[in-house]
Amino acid sequence: MKPAPFDYLRARSLGEAVRALADAAGDGKIIAGGQSLMPVLALRMARPRLLVDINRIPGLSTITPVDTGVRLGALVRHARLVEQTLHPLLAEAARWIGHAAIRSRGTSGGSIAHADPAAELPVVAAALEATIHIAGPGGTRTSTATDLFTGPLETTLAEDELITAIDMPAPERWGFAEFSRRHGDFGLVTVVAAEVRGRWRLAIGGVGGVPHRPAEAEDLLNDGGSPDQVAAAAAAAVTPSGDIHASAEYRRAMMEEFTRRALTAATQKAVA
Ligand SMILES: Cc1cc2nc3c(=O)[nH]c(=O)nc-3n(C[C@H](O)[C@H](O)[C@H](O)COP(=O)(O)OP(=O)(O)OC[C@H]3O[C@@H](n4cnc5c(N)ncnc54)[C@H](O)[C@@H]3O)c2cc1C
Repeated sequence: MKPAPFDYLRARSLGEAVRALADAAGDGKIIAGGQSLMPVLALRMARPRLLVDINRIPGLSTITPVDTGVRLGALVRHARLVEQTLHPLLAEAARWIGHAAIRSRGTSGGSIAHADPAAELPVVAAALEATIHIAGPGGTRTSTATDLFTGPLETTLAEDELITAIDMPAPERWGFAEFSRRHGDFGLVTVVAAEVRGRWRLAIGGVGGVPHRPAEAEDLLNDGGSPDQVAAAAAAAVTPSGDIHASAEYRRAMMEEFTRRALTAATQKAVA
């Protein structure tokens, strides 16, 4: 199918983009890489009157070292994340996103805003307790990743707000493990284990509407629990839903196994 007709604005500044979204009064959509939005439009699951293209807004494509880690401009492409060396966990996670064509267009801000519970970057953002920088008609605000994600493809972003950058803390140690049926598919289960400022965090994607943080398993991990014990606790704490890709039991078993793998990787190697 083809998208329904829409007007198109190539914004030259954040102010212009925000004003256009506000004027559209809920009938406007940002387009960044278009890798998630265009299929949605083509299937007519959304019919915005206006698309606001943010690709020409200056200053949104940089990766900048900050005190805690790195700041990703909203337009940083997944392919750049794979290539950069400042944040090895992001490089590893981005390598698992789709295929080369998708990685060359898809953006960090788009992935976070789209909030697909099976996507890699939201799981990393949840594990690292990333800070999301947001611009809107009233100025700027920040949100933690945990507060931003409210459900599958749902966030607290207002219709006239846009993500400008994401601060991703650098973990002292980390492990990333993903299970997908074919290379390039969304993960059935994605697990990130990360030690940030001396405290371990776990985030699991693909087992609920938002990246899951298993609190009891995290406590056990911080109290010195073994990968086997922590993985069992993480798997016991959720009831994943079954779908055409995998039953709930299978997903739970994969969640336990891939949590164990992420933890084993994280605790066995010293990673910068
Ligand atoms: C075949 C295929 C396979 C894929 N596989 C994977 C995968 O394995 N893992 C994975 O994580 N992703 C996958 N993707 C999705 C891909 O990573 C997208 O690039 C990403 O989800 C969205 O980024 P984008 O820049 O393309 O956003 P767009 O498609 O342009 O926008 C997506 C949504 O976010 C909004 N948006 C975009 N930028 C901003 C912003 N700065 N602020 C506020 N809202 C914004 C848009 O309005 C829209 O609602 C796949 C896509 C395809 C087509």
